[in-house]
Order: sequence, then C-alpha cells, then structure tokens
Amino acid sequence: MTGLDDILGSRLAQLDARHLRRTLRTLSGGPAPRVDLDGREVIQFCSNDYLGLAADPRLKQAAVDAVGQFGCGAGSSRLVGGTTSLHAALEEALAGLKATAASLVFTSGYHANIGVLSALVESGDTVFSDARNHASLIDGCRLSRATVVVYRHLDVEHLRRLLASAPGAGRRFIVTETVFSMDGDVAPLEDLVDAARRWDASILVDEAHATGVYGPRGGGVVEELGLGADIAVQVGTLGKALGSLGAFAAGSAALVDWLTNTARSFVYTTALSPPAVAAALTAVDIVGREPERRQRLWDHAEVMRARLTDLGFRVGAHRSPILPVFVGDDERAVRLSAELLARGVLVPAIRPPTVPPGTARLRVVPMATHRAEDVEAGLDVFAAAGRASGVLR
Ligand code: PMP
Repeated sequence: MTGLDDILGSRLAQLDARHLRRTLRTLSGGPAPRVDLDGREVIQFCSNDYLGLAADPRLKQAAVDAVGQFGCGAGSSRLVGGTTSLHAALEEALAGLKATAASLVFTSGYHANIGVLSALVESGDTVFSDARNHASLIDGCRLSRATVVVYRHLDVEHLRRLLASAPGAGRRFIVTETVFSMDGDVAPLEDLVDAARRWDASILVDEAHATGVYGPRGGGVVEELGLGADIAVQVGTLGKALGSLGAFAAGSAALVDWLTNTARSFVYTTALSPPAVAAALTAVDIVGREPERRQRLWDHAEVMRARLTDLGFRVGAHRSPILPVFVGDDERAVRLSAELLARGVLVPAIRPPTVPPGTARLRVVPMATHRAEDVEAGLDVFAAAGRASGVLR
C-alpha cells in the first residue's frame, strides 16, 4: 500500500509537469498598489480591492475602534450570540446600497452562495446556470440537489431553448454572475430578466465583482440597469471593492427571514468578526460618497486596455476593470507571469481549472489607488516581459 503522502506527492508532480501547480506567495504588508514581496517592492495588478479601500485609513480606524468596543471575534454564530449592533447597521446599509428591503451578511462570498442556493432551491427544482459561473455558485447548485442545466456562457438564446424544453415540475432559477470574475464580461441582464418573465423563473445574481464598481452609487450592474425589482436575490461580497471580508444576500424581507432560518452556512458558522463588519460599514459609506474612486479605476483600466492592446497582447474588450490578457498555453502564461515578476510586477497566471483549458491568461486589474506612474511603469514592464517570454513577437 502506498501512503497518502506518496500518492499526493505523485499527483502534485503531475500538476507540476502540466504547469498547473499553484503555490502561495507571501507578502509583507496589506493590499496596496505596491507591495513587499520577499523584501522587494513590486507593483501589483491582481487585487480585487478595486477601489483601494482595504488600506484606507478610515476603514483601518473603524476596525480598530470596533475591536476596542466589541473585541476581535464575534464569539458565536449570528443566531446564538454573534449579532452585534454593527452587524445590524451593516445589513441596513447594504440594503440601502442595493435598494432592497433587507440584506443578510455571511462570512464570505463562498458561504453566501452555497448557503443561499441550498436554502432556496430544492430537489425537483431546476437551476439554469451560466457555464462560467464561479465555483461557489456551482457548489451551491450541487448542494441544493436540484437539476442543474448549464447554458452556454452569456448565451440567452441557448438559455431560452433550455427553459422551453425543461420539464414543468418544480421551480426554476436562473443563476449568473453579473460581471464574470476571470473575463470581466457582463451578463445580458435585461435579456435574462425577459427570459425569466416568460418562463416564470427567479433570478439570482452574484455581484461579487460589480458591487462598488458599477452603477451610479456603486450598487452594481443591477443598479446600473435599474433591474432591482426583477431580481430575487443579489449576492455581493465585502472582500473585494469594499475592502474587508464577508458577503451578503440582498432582497425582500421574506427572503432574508428565510435565509436567516435555513441557510446552513449562515446558521452553523461563527459570525463575521466585528472589525471586518466595521470596515465594511465604513466602505459602504465611502462607496456612496466618493464616485471619483470608481472613475479613477475605470480611467486606469481604459489606459491599460489600450496600451496592452497596442503592444500586441490579446486583451478582453469588455467594459470592465478586469482585463484578461489571453495567452492560451499554460506554460507560456506562467512564463509571462515570471518575466513580469522578475521586473517587479506581480500578476499571477490564471490556469485551468479556474478557466477552461487552452485559455490561460493573466488577469490584470488596476486599483483606484494606483498612481499614473504605477500604471505607466507597469505597462513598460509588460512590454519587456511580453518580449522576453515570447508572448509578444
Ligand atoms: N463569487 C465570485 C464571482 C467570486 O469571484 C468570488 C471570489 N473570487 C466569490 C463569489 C467568493 O467570494 P469570497 O472571496 O468572499 O468567498
């Protein structure tokens, strides 16, 4: 019999051989445009801290104050004794941001998606799920025990055909990200709403990468398109543009009441810690009052998209601050990432199974707090690393 470590060792070696092994990089210091990696300052373009709020002094102070008043940990689950006045204030603020009746905070986006889907959807129901949905949505669908029908990415005509041919029994749910995490493309929400009306389906959207970034008040794509009344559940995360940790589901009072009672990843886990809640609460306020942050993010993204394209990189063309630089081959993607890092720019390669085979890429994301010089310096490094890696001719 081979020991478990031997089996794992040989599996890891196989990942290595296919250029698919992942390793952790340890930074000294928090998310910022420039970070300390092994004693060396590098410019990073890979954070989901889109607005640069994670290191904002106001969020830091709010977290420190919350530790002073409430301590470091919540101490128990929300239903037992873990709900503080901060949690309640955050849920009210998030419902305001999303213009819904109520919201419920979870400890992560992963928890939110698996909890919401398994609480709302049951065996006998059918979930229509976009082919590129995030792993947490896929796992939530699995946990629900519903029939899962996958429609081609963004393809509403395909979805309509599948809706028309699915058996009538049970309820129907359409599940999609609004801004897709690895491509930056945006779901055709108006068409999805139209299809949902025709087939009496409920829509769940994951606005992880849209909350704080899209919409006049940072309320997401749903706010931008004014579709709040047509969406049953809006999930958003607090660990990306809101600079903290955690997530929420926003919708009707009945929805939130039901999730409070039945979402297992809410009921059976320790509440989000007070400093994380306080930081997120401060972030929601800033997101509403400082639209110029969003503007800076979008401006950087446009400059980077144009320059990377001019240099000869294949860059996604969607209206998004997520700029996928497509390389295709896993080894070449790793090489480009290594050449960037050698020159002081951190952008890891994104490979299968996170993205489909043959579509390895670098996911380039500016932050509102990058200075114009950071962006320029980063682009110069991209030119040199592109040539050194052979990705650019
Ligand atoms: N949904 C999407 C679309 C995501 O990209 C992510 C995180 N990458 C999550 C959910 C999970 O969020 P969290 O990191 O808070 O668990």
